[in-house]
Amino acid sequence: MTYQHFPKVELHTHLEGSAPPDFIRSLAREKNIDLSRIFNDDGGYIFRDFAHFLKVYEAACEPLQTPQDFYRLTKAVLEEFASHGVVYAETFVSPDFCGGGDVVKWRDYLAAMEQAADEMSGTITLKAIATIIRHAGPEQAKRTARCAVETQNGFLTGFGLAGAEMMHRPGDFAYSFDMAREAGMHLTAHAGEWGGPDMVQETLDLLKVERVGHGVNAVTDPDLVARLAEEGITLEVCPGSNIVLRAIDRWEDHPIQTLREAGVPVTVSTDDPPFFHTTMTAEYDSLARVFGYGDDDFRALNETAIAAAFCDDATKKAVRARLEKA
Ligand SMILES: [Zn+2]
Repeated sequence: MTYQHFPKVELHTHLEGSAPPDFIRSLAREKNIDLSRIFNDDGGYIFRDFAHFLKVYEAACEPLQTPQDFYRLTKAVLEEFASHGVVYAETFVSPDFCGGGDVVKWRDYLAAMEQAADEMSGTITLKAIATIIRHAGPEQAKRTARCAVETQNGFLTGFGLAGAEMMHRPGDFAYSFDMAREAGMHLTAHAGEWGGPDMVQETLDLLKVERVGHGVNAVTDPDLVARLAEEGITLEVCPGSNIVLRAIDRWEDHPIQTLREAGVPVTVSTDDPPFFHTTMTAEYDSLARVFGYGDDDFRALNETAIAAAFCDDATKKAVRARLEKA
């Protein structure tokens, strides 16, 4: 039994982090870039821990140099997602990796990604979230926010914060989040993956996000769990990522079900699937095996995800129609 063909919604992926290794390898070959150090003998990405993962991630981005490269990347990623039954996805994209935070350059990259998404829209809908790279610091974040607010449209609907969680405090990025909020963008931020409940709390208080990336460490603070449930803050939970990066030791220890039972809106995503040797099919299959989830659970997770999706009501309606085919 596998859930490969069950329709799925995922809210938390990183575009470059979803790049199939074969795609990056052949692009690197075209450009004469030697990336052999980031691949293992089986052709997968190789890294030791979270800090090393961030380095390997940035190395894998090296061959991605032009808007056309991002067009091809987006296509390759969406074909891969669709092969796992994903009908709607959101992905983090960073103006830092696409033109170094320059608005004019970023606009071309974004247009290329949007074109690829348009061409795949008969099978899968994609929305983008412009994302601060946290370890690049609050000043670079302001440039990212400027790129985001000047180019937001029906495709680029969200603003986010990713990168090394233990560098800088959430409040350091309040200026950038204020800009994006005032421009009417949807907001999410990674928190509570490596940091404790205090990080999640500060992220809610100071960045006023609608969703939290990961957020799983909130589980250790009952008051915070109650707050997440009460305020309907959706968690973008990525169990396979947590296990491979050892944020959580074993699938059996993952707090997704505890959070769900407490009434927190939880969703399931792959984060950086080929890096974490996962797919949406693998996530569903593991949840079925470890927690006994069945079709009704997955339908409920999908509904939570589409309710919290950063898209308009017409898109939600169209996605729900695709989901009902399950
Ligand atoms: Zn992430």
